[in-house]
Amino acid sequence: MAGIYLHIPFCERKCIYCDFYSETNHKDHSVFVKFLLKEIELYSDYHNLEEIQTIYFGGGTPSLLHPLQISEIINAIQKLFKVNQQAEITLEVNPGTVDLQKLKEYKNSGINRLSIGVQSFNDDDLKFLSRIHSVADGLRCISDAKEAGFENIGIDLIYSLPTQTIESLLYNLQIAIDAKVNHISAYSLIVEEGTQLHQLVKNKSILMVDEAIETQMMDITIDGLKSAGFDHYEISNFAKPGYESKHNSNYWNHSNYLGFGPSAHSFWKNKRWWNIDTIFSYYSRLENNLLPISETENLNTEQLINEKFMLGLRSRGVDFKLLNEEFNHDYKLQFENLIHKLTSNQLASYENGHLRLTKSGIMIADEISRMFILRNSV
Ligand code: SF4
Repeated sequence: MAGIYLHIPFCERKCIYCDFYSETNHKDHSVFVKFLLKEIELYSDYHNLEEIQTIYFGGGTPSLLHPLQISEIINAIQKLFKVNQQAEITLEVNPGTVDLQKLKEYKNSGINRLSIGVQSFNDDDLKFLSRIHSVADGLRCISDAKEAGFENIGIDLIYSLPTQTIESLLYNLQIAIDAKVNHISAYSLIVEEGTQLHQLVKNKSILMVDEAIETQMMDITIDGLKSAGFDHYEISNFAKPGYESKHNSNYWNHSNYLGFGPSAHSFWKNKRWWNIDTIFSYYSRLENNLLPISETENLNTEQLINEKFMLGLRSRGVDFKLLNEEFNHDYKLQFENLIHKLTSNQLASYENGHLRLTKSGIMIADEISRMFILRNSV
């Protein structure tokens, strides 16, 4: 089971918290599409290796591309790779860039899942984040997506904003539940280096919410969405049964994927590589028939195990039976004391060789991952 990620590096405006690579001054995207198709073609060694089960248009703002451009990219992938007929094909959508007609055309181009960057149902939050859309745009986008015939719809929400209160978070969650979407990604606001938000926090122009409130907001989010019938299947992701993101689940299962476009990452058989993150260098490499790869790393067993712990603990857990088989080593025995400590403190459950964090464990998942990583490297 393999996936393809396409990084579309354009945005109308840079949001203050965002550290994803994107350009804001490009209006003509046809040159980019031409080079993206060339990059996909250059991966001929991979075209027949594994069936492609998921395609994901992320960014940036992929909904700035015309539906005909999306269709051209999907057709090229389907022509070159073995793509499963039921493949999940997701498009990230910024509510400020689409209308009903455009969404209908995306549906006709082969997109069968939307991930809508709603972020909040409060206009003060959206202004603070410097999003280009309003609450009304977000709500309209969800209803237009349904009218356009999309059934698999997810939205993104951000919590622990300085503009947010417990009451406004509860309101946000209720509107999200009432919108009857089947996937919600809820992230706490992170201050990433190099962003405008980082500068504002550094200058003390903005005071972030303290850790205790952030934990309380995470707790409320988990409880609120679980009681509305969402499965909490990854630290920041909630899905109605059968609507988990297959593409992201592939990442968390350490499956193979190829990433195309500037800054896109790939992972294939224990090797990871990532692309140059400036668009003109990306073009110039491809113009010379060279892959636009910036760096490559081969993961050794210790790194692979560490990643498996990190990814597994944040999602559906760590399967020690599989791990022991794959690496021919008794990891259950190696981590016996830690597993015992976690289960006796109700931070995790251990059944049939499978360790999964409880809600209390998920709240400190990074800390628990560090304990496994530390013990794995001694
Ligand atoms: S629209 Fe998305 S990718 Fe673009 S700047 Fe905002 S958060 Fe980043």
